[in-house]
Amino acid sequence: MVRPTADRLGRALDLFGDQWVLLMLQRAFFGVRRYNEWKHELGISDAVLSARLRSLVDAGVLYRRPYRDERRMRDEYRLTDAGLELWQLLISIWAWEYRWVPGRTDELPVLFHELCGEPTLPTLTCRGCGGAVTARDTDATRHRRVGEVASPRRFRRSGWESVADRPDLFFPETMSILGDRWSTAVTAAAFLGIRRFSELERELGIQPSVLSRRLGELVEQGVLERRREDGRRAVHYRLTEKGRAFFPVVVTVVAWADHWIADAPRALTLVHRTCDRPLRPALSCDHCNVRLERTQIHFAPRGEKRSS
Ligand SMILES: [Zn+2]
Ligand SMILES: [Zn+2]
Repeated sequence: MVRPTADRLGRALDLFGDQWVLLMLQRAFFGVRRYNEWKHELGISDAVLSARLRSLVDAGVLYRRPYRDERRMRDEYRLTDAGLELWQLLISIWAWEYRWVPGRTDELPVLFHELCGEPTLPTLTCRGCGGAVTARDTDATRHRRVGEVASPRRFRRSGWESVADRPDLFFPETMSILGDRWSTAVTAAAFLGIRRFSELERELGIQPSVLSRRLGELVEQGVLERRREDGRRAVHYRLTEKGRAFFPVVVTVVAWADHWIADAPRALTLVHRTCDRPLRPALSCDHCNVRLERTQIHFAPRGEKRSS
């Protein structure tokens, strides 16, 4: 399933570019551990659930732990240290949907920072200097072609369509970027400053018809915008504000992959230009500015004031 030659980012995207996997991780953080609990919570088929559990165990995100039910020994699945680190990815996805996807603010739960007791929208910050981080003050050095991120195997649209009709479950807009290998590659290329159709085509090794369809979808979602350079006919594609706001999701995947898939080649190096150090991302509370910790945040339904 995972390409042995893929770089760190490619391998991470092979794993997380799948709506079921993200849903399962989300549920794992809410305490789901047993096969039947996942099956019941997500309405997922046995074949899909078994395959995803296997890839999450193989990737070192979940580990098996035996337990005895009424009849026999079974395995439950718990988050490893690598798995627990993924809270930052899930929170970044939540924050982007909450802030940028119309209608989602009213549907999604609110995130509370227990340290200050207030609802929080995490901001991406640098562990090196403590300052805020955006795509604009980050330099990326590529070690591989962006196209190597895009798996040659068929992207898994069939999987997402079955979840997309259940907005209560998860994040359909995120999945239309992250769950589709070409959209991920096109978005990554946009962050790296690759903007013209011909450049994208060459860099990604993508068929023109596929590229124009993905670009069209990303424009429709408001992630990219078409611009015409002064005095030229060539159109280029730039990230909108909504598109640039997806940066924390990209950065947390890159950082996780660098730490936990260290046996694969590095895909790219990010440097925080403000302090000129390799970017080690953190998420901070937009209310009290303190760095968020996994054990100091919780979700609550809308309307709830503070934790008990
Ligand atoms: Zn910095
Ligand atoms: Zn706070």
